Amino acid sequence: MAYGGKGQRIPVVDLADRRALERYRPADPGVIEEARRLKEAALLDFGLTESAVASWLYAKCHHQIPTTAVDMAAVVASGDGSCLLLYNPDFFVGLGLSGVKFVLFHEARHLVHRHFFADPDLRADPVFELAAEVSINHVALVRLGREQLPLLDGRPTGVDPREVYERYHADLLAHGLEPLPYDGFVETDMRVYGELKRMRHPPVPERRLCAHLVAGAVPADQETVDLVASSALLNSLLAARRGHPGAEAELLDLMGRTEDGNARAAKLWGTLGGGMLRGETTPTRTVDWWQRWLVDVLASKLREGERLVYPKKRGALLTALGQDPMLSRRGPVRDKLLVIAYDTSGSMPHRVITWLTELVGRIDGVQAHWLSFDGVVMPFTPGERVYGGGGTSFQVVADYVEGRTEVRGRRFEETPDAVVVLTDGYAPPITPAEPDKWIWLITEGGDEWPERHTPAMDCHRVTTKSR
Ligand SMILES: [Zn+2]
Repeated sequence: MAYGGKGQRIPVVDLADRRALERYRPADPGVIEEARRLKEAALLDFGLTESAVASWLYAKCHHQIPTTAVDMAAVVASGDGSCLLLYNPDFFVGLGLSGVKFVLFHEARHLVHRHFFADPDLRADPVFELAAEVSINHVALVRLGREQLPLLDGRPTGVDPREVYERYHADLLAHGLEPLPYDGFVETDMRVYGELKRMRHPPVPERRLCAHLVAGAVPADQETVDLVASSALLNSLLAARRGHPGAEAELLDLMGRTEDGNARAAKLWGTLGGGMLRGETTPTRTVDWWQRWLVDVLASKLREGERLVYPKKRGALLTALGQDPMLSRRGPVRDKLLVIAYDTSGSMPHRVITWLTELVGRIDGVQAHWLSFDGVVMPFTPGERVYGGGGTSFQVVADYVEGRTEVRGRRFEETPDAVVVLTDGYAPPITPAEPDKWIWLITEGGDEWPERHTPAMDCHRVTTKSR
Protein backbone atom coordinates (compact mmCIF):
# COMPACT_ATOMS: atom_id res chain seq x y z
CA MET A 1 0.00 0.00 0.00
CA ALA A 2 1.77 3.07 -1.07
CA TYR A 3 1.21 6.65 -1.87
CA GLY A 4 3.09 8.55 -4.45
CA GLY A 5 3.35 10.43 -7.66
CA LYS A 6 6.64 9.44 -9.20
CA GLY A 7 7.29 6.58 -11.56
CA GLN A 8 6.26 3.21 -10.23
CA ARG A 9 8.37 0.13 -10.45
CA ILE A 10 8.23 -3.33 -9.04
CA PRO A 11 10.50 -3.32 -6.00
CA VAL A 12 13.74 -5.16 -6.49
CA VAL A 13 14.02 -6.45 -2.94
CA ASP A 14 11.69 -8.45 -0.77
CA LEU A 15 9.74 -5.72 1.00
CA ALA A 16 9.34 -7.87 4.08
CA ASP A 17 13.08 -8.44 4.38
CA ARG A 18 14.24 -5.77 6.77
CA ARG A 19 17.96 -6.29 6.39
CA ALA A 20 17.77 -6.29 2.60
CA LEU A 21 15.85 -3.02 2.75
CA GLU A 22 18.41 -1.40 4.98
CA ARG A 23 21.25 -2.51 2.72
CA TYR A 24 19.56 -1.43 -0.48
CA ARG A 25 21.22 1.64 -2.07
CA PRO A 26 21.15 3.81 1.05
CA ALA A 27 20.30 7.47 0.54
CA ASP A 28 22.48 10.31 1.73
CA PRO A 29 22.78 10.14 5.57
CA GLY A 30 21.67 13.77 5.94
CA VAL A 31 18.57 13.09 3.87
CA ILE A 32 17.79 9.95 5.86
CA GLU A 33 18.09 11.88 9.10
CA GLU A 34 15.83 14.68 7.87
CA ALA A 35 13.26 12.19 6.53
CA ARG A 36 13.22 10.39 9.87
CA ARG A 37 12.69 13.68 11.69
CA LEU A 38 9.76 14.56 9.41
CA LYS A 39 8.22 11.14 9.95
CA GLU A 40 8.51 11.41 13.75
CA ALA A 41 7.05 14.92 13.74
CA ALA A 42 4.12 13.77 11.59
CA LEU A 43 3.33 10.86 13.91
CA LEU A 44 3.52 13.12 16.94
CA ASP A 45 0.94 15.43 15.38
CA PHE A 46 -1.36 12.51 14.60
CA GLY A 47 -1.27 11.32 18.17
CA LEU A 48 -1.94 14.74 19.52
CA THR A 49 -4.90 15.84 17.49
CA GLU A 50 -5.27 14.73 13.96
CA SER A 51 -5.65 10.98 13.82
CA ALA A 52 -5.70 8.61 16.74
CA VAL A 53 -6.22 5.75 14.28
CA ALA A 54 -3.13 6.57 12.21
CA SER A 55 -1.15 7.14 15.38
CA TRP A 56 -2.05 3.71 16.73
CA LEU A 57 -1.48 2.03 13.39
CA TYR A 58 2.05 3.32 13.11
CA ALA A 59 2.67 2.47 16.73
CA LYS A 60 2.10 -1.09 15.59
CA CYS A 61 4.63 -0.83 12.78
CA HIS A 62 7.55 -1.74 14.99
CA HIS A 63 9.98 -1.23 12.14
CA GLN A 64 9.92 2.03 10.25
CA ILE A 65 12.59 1.95 7.61
CA PRO A 66 13.87 4.68 5.32
CA THR A 67 14.70 2.88 2.09
CA THR A 68 15.05 3.68 -1.57
CA ALA A 69 13.55 0.28 -2.41
CA VAL A 70 10.15 1.99 -2.53
CA ASP A 71 9.53 5.15 -4.51
CA MET A 72 7.17 6.72 -2.01
CA ALA A 73 5.89 5.10 1.17
CA ALA A 74 4.27 1.78 1.88
CA VAL A 75 2.88 -0.14 4.81
CA VAL A 76 3.80 -3.78 4.47
CA ALA A 77 1.74 -6.41 6.30
CA SER A 78 3.77 -9.57 6.18
CA GLY A 79 2.65 -13.12 6.81
CA ASP A 80 4.43 -13.40 10.16
CA GLY A 81 1.98 -10.91 11.67
CA SER A 82 4.32 -7.92 11.63
CA CYS A 83 3.84 -4.57 9.97
CA LEU A 84 6.56 -2.38 8.48
CA LEU A 85 6.48 1.19 7.36
CA LEU A 86 8.81 1.83 4.45
CA TYR A 87 9.45 5.34 3.23
CA ASN A 88 11.68 6.78 0.59
CA PRO A 89 13.85 9.44 2.29
CA ASP A 90 14.23 11.62 -0.81
CA PHE A 91 10.48 11.55 -1.36
CA PHE A 92 9.76 12.56 2.24
CA VAL A 93 12.27 15.40 2.23
CA GLY A 94 10.83 16.62 -1.09
CA LEU A 95 7.32 16.66 0.39
CA GLY A 96 8.08 18.49 3.62
CA LEU A 97 6.15 18.02 6.86
CA SER A 98 2.65 18.77 5.61
CA GLY A 99 3.12 16.45 2.63
CA VAL A 100 4.56 13.69 4.81
CA LYS A 101 1.54 13.91 7.10
CA PHE A 102 -0.80 13.63 4.15
CA VAL A 103 1.02 10.60 2.77
CA LEU A 104 1.25 8.83 6.14
CA PHE A 105 -2.43 9.46 6.78
CA HIS A 106 -3.23 8.13 3.30
CA GLU A 107 -1.22 4.96 3.91
CA ALA A 108 -2.79 4.29 7.31
CA ARG A 109 -6.22 4.69 5.74
CA HIS A 110 -5.35 2.12 3.07
CA LEU A 111 -4.70 -0.45 5.75
CA VAL A 112 -7.98 0.34 7.51
CA HIS A 113 -9.75 0.28 4.16
CA ARG A 114 -8.33 -3.11 3.40
CA HIS A 115 -9.55 -4.34 6.77
CA PHE A 116 -13.12 -3.22 6.12
CA PHE A 117 -13.25 -4.04 2.41
CA ALA A 118 -11.55 -7.40 2.10
CA ASP A 119 -13.88 -8.87 -0.54
CA PRO A 120 -11.53 -10.19 -3.27
CA ASP A 121 -14.02 -9.50 -6.07
CA LEU A 122 -14.39 -5.92 -5.00
CA ARG A 123 -10.67 -5.43 -4.61
CA ALA A 124 -10.02 -6.86 -8.07
CA ASP A 125 -12.11 -4.08 -9.64
CA PRO A 126 -9.87 -1.17 -10.73
CA VAL A 127 -12.81 1.21 -10.29
CA PHE A 128 -12.94 0.16 -6.64
CA GLU A 129 -9.23 0.94 -6.30
CA LEU A 130 -9.81 4.41 -7.70
CA ALA A 131 -12.82 4.86 -5.42
CA ALA A 132 -10.53 4.05 -2.48
CA GLU A 133 -8.06 6.73 -3.61
CA VAL A 134 -10.89 9.26 -3.93
CA SER A 135 -12.36 8.39 -0.51
CA ILE A 136 -9.02 8.35 1.27
CA ASN A 137 -7.83 11.63 -0.20
CA HIS A 138 -11.16 13.30 0.44
CA VAL A 139 -10.96 12.33 4.12
CA ALA A 140 -7.30 13.35 4.30
CA LEU A 141 -8.08 16.81 2.87
CA VAL A 142 -10.91 17.30 5.37
CA ARG A 143 -9.24 15.85 8.46
CA LEU A 144 -5.93 17.55 7.86
CA GLY A 145 -7.67 20.79 6.87
CA ARG A 146 -6.02 21.07 3.45
CA GLU A 147 -7.03 22.95 0.34
CA GLN A 148 -4.99 20.81 -1.98
CA LEU A 149 -2.99 17.62 -2.42
CA PRO A 150 0.64 17.61 -1.30
CA LEU A 151 3.07 19.22 -3.69
CA LEU A 152 6.14 17.51 -5.03
CA ASP A 153 8.40 19.67 -7.18
CA GLY A 154 5.61 22.24 -7.16
CA ARG A 155 3.01 19.86 -8.58
CA PRO A 156 0.10 18.24 -6.71
CA THR A 157 0.64 14.53 -6.24
CA GLY A 158 -2.04 11.84 -5.94
CA VAL A 159 -5.68 11.41 -6.99
CA ASP A 160 -7.66 14.62 -6.58
CA PRO A 161 -11.20 13.71 -5.48
CA ARG A 162 -12.59 16.93 -6.98
CA GLU A 163 -11.08 16.20 -10.38
CA VAL A 164 -12.54 12.71 -10.40
CA TYR A 165 -15.89 14.21 -9.39
CA GLU A 166 -15.76 16.63 -12.36
CA ARG A 167 -15.24 13.74 -14.75
CA TYR A 168 -18.09 11.81 -13.11
CA HIS A 169 -20.36 14.84 -13.29
CA ALA A 170 -19.62 15.42 -16.98
CA ASP A 171 -19.96 11.73 -17.89
CA LEU A 172 -23.36 11.35 -16.22
CA LEU A 173 -24.76 14.55 -17.73
CA ALA A 174 -23.48 13.53 -21.16
CA HIS A 175 -25.46 10.31 -20.87
CA GLY A 176 -28.65 11.84 -19.55
CA LEU A 177 -28.15 10.74 -15.93
CA GLU A 178 -28.47 12.77 -12.77
CA PRO A 179 -25.17 13.17 -10.89
CA LEU A 180 -25.05 13.60 -7.12
CA PRO A 181 -23.67 16.81 -5.66
CA TYR A 182 -20.03 16.52 -4.51
CA ASP A 183 -20.92 16.07 -0.83
CA GLY A 184 -23.26 13.20 -1.61
CA PHE A 185 -20.75 11.63 -3.97
CA VAL A 186 -17.99 11.42 -1.33
CA GLU A 187 -20.23 10.71 1.66
CA THR A 188 -19.30 7.04 2.11
CA ASP A 189 -16.69 4.72 0.60
CA MET A 190 -19.23 2.50 -1.14
CA ARG A 191 -21.09 5.55 -2.44
CA VAL A 192 -18.00 6.76 -4.31
CA TYR A 193 -17.65 3.33 -5.85
CA GLY A 194 -21.34 2.97 -6.70
CA GLU A 195 -21.44 6.41 -8.33
CA LEU A 196 -18.26 5.80 -10.35
CA LYS A 197 -19.89 2.59 -11.60
CA ARG A 198 -22.79 4.62 -12.97
CA MET A 199 -20.43 6.27 -15.43
CA ARG A 200 -20.47 5.07 -19.02
CA HIS A 201 -16.69 5.18 -18.94
CA PRO A 202 -15.59 4.78 -15.33
CA PRO A 203 -12.05 6.00 -14.79
CA VAL A 204 -9.37 3.59 -13.68
CA PRO A 205 -6.38 4.70 -11.65
CA GLU A 206 -3.09 5.30 -13.30
CA ARG A 207 -0.77 2.50 -12.31
CA ARG A 208 1.97 4.90 -11.33
CA LEU A 209 -0.02 6.47 -8.51
CA CYS A 210 0.14 3.82 -5.82
CA ALA A 211 2.41 0.82 -5.33
CA HIS A 212 -0.50 -1.08 -3.85
CA LEU A 213 -2.26 -0.75 -7.21
CA VAL A 214 0.36 -2.99 -8.75
CA ALA A 215 -0.94 -6.44 -7.88
CA GLY A 216 1.32 -8.17 -5.42
CA ALA A 217 3.88 -5.33 -5.29
CA VAL A 218 3.37 -4.78 -1.57
CA PRO A 219 2.75 -7.73 0.74
CA ALA A 220 -0.62 -7.24 2.42
CA ASP A 221 -1.35 -10.38 4.38
CA GLN A 222 -5.05 -10.12 5.20
CA GLU A 223 -4.75 -11.76 8.61
CA THR A 224 -2.02 -9.32 9.61
CA VAL A 225 -4.01 -6.41 8.23
CA ASP A 226 -7.04 -7.50 10.27
CA LEU A 227 -5.01 -7.98 13.42
CA VAL A 228 -3.20 -4.66 13.24
CA ALA A 229 -6.19 -2.62 12.07
CA SER A 230 -8.62 -4.00 14.62
CA SER A 231 -6.10 -3.49 17.38
CA ALA A 232 -5.51 0.13 16.31
CA LEU A 233 -9.28 0.69 16.17
CA LEU A 234 -9.88 -0.86 19.57
CA ASN A 235 -7.19 1.29 21.15
CA SER A 236 -8.65 4.36 19.46
CA LEU A 237 -12.05 3.36 20.79
CA LEU A 238 -10.66 3.08 24.29
CA ALA A 239 -8.94 6.45 23.86
CA ALA A 240 -12.29 7.92 22.81
CA ARG A 241 -13.90 6.49 25.91
CA ARG A 242 -11.12 7.92 28.04
CA GLY A 243 -12.21 11.31 26.82
CA HIS A 244 -10.06 11.99 23.75
CA PRO A 245 -12.52 13.97 21.60
CA GLY A 246 -10.40 13.74 18.44
CA ALA A 247 -10.47 9.94 18.57
CA GLU A 248 -14.22 9.92 19.08
CA ALA A 249 -14.91 12.22 16.14
CA GLU A 250 -12.58 10.26 13.89
CA LEU A 251 -14.13 6.91 14.76
CA LEU A 252 -17.71 8.13 14.37
CA ASP A 253 -16.81 9.47 10.95
CA LEU A 254 -14.96 6.30 9.98
CA MET A 255 -17.86 4.14 11.10
CA GLY A 256 -20.32 6.18 9.07
CA ARG A 257 -18.11 6.03 5.98
CA THR A 258 -17.48 2.30 6.04
CA GLU A 259 -20.69 0.68 7.32
CA ASP A 260 -22.95 1.84 4.52
CA GLY A 261 -23.64 -1.03 2.10
CA ASN A 262 -20.84 -3.11 3.62
CA ALA A 263 -21.94 -6.01 5.79
CA ARG A 264 -18.37 -6.93 6.72
CA ALA A 265 -17.60 -3.46 8.06
CA ALA A 266 -20.87 -3.32 9.99
CA LYS A 267 -20.01 -6.67 11.56
CA LEU A 268 -16.45 -5.63 12.42
CA TRP A 269 -17.69 -2.45 14.07
CA GLY A 270 -20.23 -4.51 15.97
CA THR A 271 -17.56 -6.87 17.23
CA LEU A 272 -15.43 -3.93 18.35
CA GLY A 273 -18.38 -2.39 20.16
CA GLY A 274 -18.18 0.79 18.09
CA GLY A 275 -21.89 1.44 18.56
CA MET A 276 -21.29 2.60 22.10
CA LEU A 277 -19.83 5.81 20.68
CA ARG A 278 -23.24 6.55 19.27
CA GLY A 279 -24.90 5.68 22.53
CA GLU A 280 -26.55 2.64 21.01
CA THR A 281 -27.84 0.33 23.68
CA THR A 282 -29.63 -2.28 21.62
CA PRO A 283 -27.86 -5.59 21.41
CA THR A 284 -27.08 -6.70 17.90
CA ARG A 285 -26.72 -10.12 16.42
CA THR A 286 -22.97 -9.84 16.23
CA VAL A 287 -21.99 -8.53 19.64
CA ASP A 288 -23.61 -8.86 23.01
CA TRP A 289 -24.31 -5.77 24.99
CA TRP A 290 -22.28 -7.01 27.94
CA GLN A 291 -19.19 -7.10 25.68
CA ARG A 292 -19.63 -3.45 24.73
CA TRP A 293 -20.33 -2.69 28.34
CA LEU A 294 -17.11 -4.38 29.45
CA VAL A 295 -15.00 -2.51 26.88
CA ASP A 296 -16.50 0.70 28.19
CA VAL A 297 -16.05 -0.11 31.87
CA LEU A 298 -12.49 -1.32 31.28
CA ALA A 299 -11.68 1.91 29.45
CA SER A 300 -12.77 3.93 32.45
CA LYS A 301 -10.86 1.72 34.92
CA LEU A 302 -7.69 1.80 32.85
CA ARG A 303 -7.83 5.55 32.34
CA GLU A 304 -4.73 7.61 32.95
CA GLY A 305 -6.57 9.99 35.22
CA GLU A 306 -4.99 13.19 36.45
CA ARG A 307 -1.92 12.73 34.28
CA LEU A 308 -4.05 14.19 31.51
CA VAL A 309 -4.67 17.43 33.31
CA TYR A 310 -1.35 19.24 33.36
CA PRO A 311 0.66 18.18 30.35
CA LYS A 312 4.05 19.86 30.45
CA LYS A 313 4.73 19.36 26.77
CA ARG A 314 3.44 17.51 23.77
CA GLY A 315 5.31 14.33 24.52
CA ALA A 316 3.93 14.19 28.02
CA LEU A 317 0.42 14.67 26.72
CA LEU A 318 0.88 11.98 24.12
CA THR A 319 2.19 9.53 26.62
CA ALA A 320 -0.65 10.38 28.96
CA LEU A 321 -3.12 9.70 26.18
CA GLY A 322 -1.49 6.36 25.65
CA GLN A 323 -1.10 7.42 22.06
CA ASP A 324 2.45 6.68 21.26
CA PRO A 325 4.12 3.53 22.50
CA MET A 326 7.29 4.76 20.74
CA LEU A 327 7.45 7.38 23.41
CA SER A 328 6.12 5.33 26.25
CA ARG A 329 8.63 2.60 25.62
CA ARG A 330 11.34 5.13 26.39
CA GLY A 331 9.52 6.63 29.31
CA PRO A 332 8.70 5.23 32.72
CA VAL A 333 5.02 4.57 31.95
CA ARG A 334 4.01 1.34 33.57
CA ASP A 335 1.60 -1.16 32.08
CA LYS A 336 -1.90 -1.29 33.41
CA LEU A 337 -2.56 -4.41 35.40
CA LEU A 338 -5.70 -6.41 34.92
CA VAL A 339 -6.72 -9.44 36.97
CA ILE A 340 -9.28 -11.81 35.52
CA ALA A 341 -10.70 -14.28 38.01
CA TYR A 342 -12.69 -17.17 36.64
CA ASP A 343 -15.08 -19.15 38.83
CA THR A 344 -14.63 -22.82 37.97
CA SER A 345 -17.44 -24.07 40.17
CA GLY A 346 -20.18 -23.03 37.77
CA SER A 347 -20.50 -23.62 34.07
CA MET A 348 -18.60 -20.87 32.30
CA PRO A 349 -18.90 -21.06 28.54
CA HIS A 350 -15.57 -21.35 26.86
CA ARG A 351 -16.34 -18.62 24.38
CA VAL A 352 -16.52 -16.03 27.15
CA ILE A 353 -12.95 -16.82 28.16
CA THR A 354 -11.86 -16.89 24.51
CA TRP A 355 -13.48 -13.53 23.85
CA LEU A 356 -11.92 -12.00 26.96
CA THR A 357 -8.50 -13.37 26.04
CA GLU A 358 -8.76 -11.80 22.60
CA LEU A 359 -10.00 -8.51 23.98
CA VAL A 360 -7.24 -8.25 26.55
CA GLY A 361 -4.64 -9.27 23.99
CA ARG A 362 -5.68 -6.40 21.77
CA ILE A 363 -5.44 -3.67 24.39
CA ASP A 364 -2.03 -2.09 24.39
CA GLY A 365 -0.13 -1.46 27.58
CA VAL A 366 -2.18 -3.91 29.61
CA GLN A 367 -0.78 -6.89 31.44
CA ALA A 368 -3.27 -9.57 32.48
CA HIS A 369 -3.15 -12.07 35.33
CA TRP A 370 -5.53 -14.97 34.97
CA LEU A 371 -6.81 -16.75 38.04
CA SER A 372 -9.24 -19.57 38.40
CA PHE A 373 -10.93 -20.10 41.72
CA ASP A 374 -13.46 -22.12 43.63
CA GLY A 375 -12.58 -22.54 47.30
CA VAL A 376 -8.96 -21.72 46.46
CA VAL A 377 -7.16 -19.56 43.92
CA MET A 378 -5.18 -21.09 41.06
CA PRO A 379 -3.39 -18.96 38.44
CA PHE A 380 -3.75 -20.26 34.89
CA THR A 381 -2.88 -19.30 31.35
CA PRO A 382 -5.71 -18.92 28.85
CA GLY A 383 -6.06 -22.07 26.80
CA GLU A 384 -4.96 -24.20 29.72
CA ARG A 385 -7.56 -26.55 31.13
CA VAL A 386 -8.88 -25.44 34.49
CA TYR A 387 -10.46 -27.74 37.02
CA GLY A 388 -13.23 -26.85 39.39
CA GLY A 389 -13.74 -28.41 42.75
CA GLY A 390 -15.46 -27.57 45.97
CA GLY A 391 -17.42 -24.59 47.17
CA THR A 392 -16.93 -21.08 45.92
CA SER A 393 -15.41 -18.18 47.80
CA PHE A 394 -14.91 -14.66 46.49
CA GLN A 395 -12.99 -13.84 49.63
CA VAL A 396 -10.10 -16.08 48.54
CA VAL A 397 -9.78 -13.95 45.39
CA ALA A 398 -9.82 -10.70 47.34
CA ASP A 399 -7.33 -12.09 49.88
CA TYR A 400 -4.95 -13.10 47.12
CA VAL A 401 -5.33 -9.98 44.94
CA GLU A 402 -4.93 -7.75 47.98
CA GLY A 403 -1.72 -9.52 48.92
CA ARG A 404 -2.80 -11.30 52.11
CA THR A 405 -2.41 -14.90 50.99
CA GLU A 406 0.10 -16.92 49.03
CA VAL A 407 -0.49 -19.18 46.07
CA ARG A 408 2.22 -21.75 45.34
CA GLY A 409 4.34 -20.02 47.95
CA ARG A 410 4.05 -16.58 46.36
CA ARG A 411 2.19 -13.46 47.23
CA PHE A 412 0.63 -11.19 44.62
CA GLU A 413 2.70 -8.06 45.10
CA GLU A 414 1.23 -5.75 42.51
CA THR A 415 -1.74 -3.42 42.64
CA PRO A 416 -4.25 -4.20 39.91
CA ASP A 417 -6.03 -1.41 38.05
CA ALA A 418 -9.05 -3.59 37.49
CA VAL A 419 -10.30 -7.00 38.59
CA VAL A 420 -12.79 -8.81 36.39
CA VAL A 421 -14.65 -11.70 38.05
CA LEU A 422 -16.49 -14.20 35.88
CA THR A 423 -18.95 -16.11 38.04
CA ASP A 424 -22.53 -17.26 38.61
CA GLY A 425 -22.41 -15.10 41.73
CA TYR A 426 -23.37 -17.87 44.16
CA ALA A 427 -21.07 -17.45 47.15
CA PRO A 428 -21.06 -15.15 50.15
CA PRO A 429 -20.79 -11.48 49.07
CA ILE A 430 -17.59 -9.62 49.82
CA THR A 431 -16.47 -6.02 50.06
CA PRO A 432 -13.04 -5.68 48.45
CA ALA A 433 -10.61 -3.03 49.67
CA GLU A 434 -11.10 -1.06 46.44
CA PRO A 435 -14.59 -1.94 45.23
CA ASP A 436 -14.50 0.56 42.36
CA LYS A 437 -11.82 -1.55 40.69
CA TRP A 438 -13.96 -4.67 40.58
CA ILE A 439 -16.06 -5.70 37.60
CA TRP A 440 -18.45 -8.61 37.95
CA LEU A 441 -19.63 -10.62 34.98
CA ILE A 442 -22.51 -12.87 36.04
CA THR A 443 -23.57 -15.88 34.00
CA GLU A 444 -27.18 -16.56 33.07
CA GLY A 445 -29.30 -17.69 35.95
CA GLY A 446 -26.71 -16.28 38.34
CA ASP A 447 -27.03 -13.87 41.23
CA GLU A 448 -26.24 -10.23 40.54
CA TRP A 449 -25.61 -9.35 44.18
CA PRO A 450 -22.68 -6.96 43.46
CA GLU A 451 -25.21 -4.56 41.95
CA ARG A 452 -27.27 -4.52 45.15
CA HIS A 453 -24.28 -4.60 47.44
CA THR A 454 -23.11 -1.64 49.54
CA PRO A 455 -21.12 -0.18 47.93
CA ALA A 456 -22.57 -1.28 44.60
CA MET A 457 -20.02 -2.59 42.12
CA ASP A 458 -19.91 -2.70 38.34
CA CYS A 459 -21.89 -5.75 37.40
CA HIS A 460 -23.36 -7.13 34.21
CA ARG A 461 -25.05 -10.31 33.11
CA VAL A 462 -23.19 -12.33 30.47
CA THR A 463 -25.43 -13.80 27.85
CA THR A 464 -24.21 -17.27 27.10
CA LYS A 465 -26.59 -18.39 24.37
CA SER A 466 -24.73 -19.70 21.34
CA ARG A 467 -24.59 -17.33 18.43
ZN1 LIG B 1 -3.30 5.02 -2.34
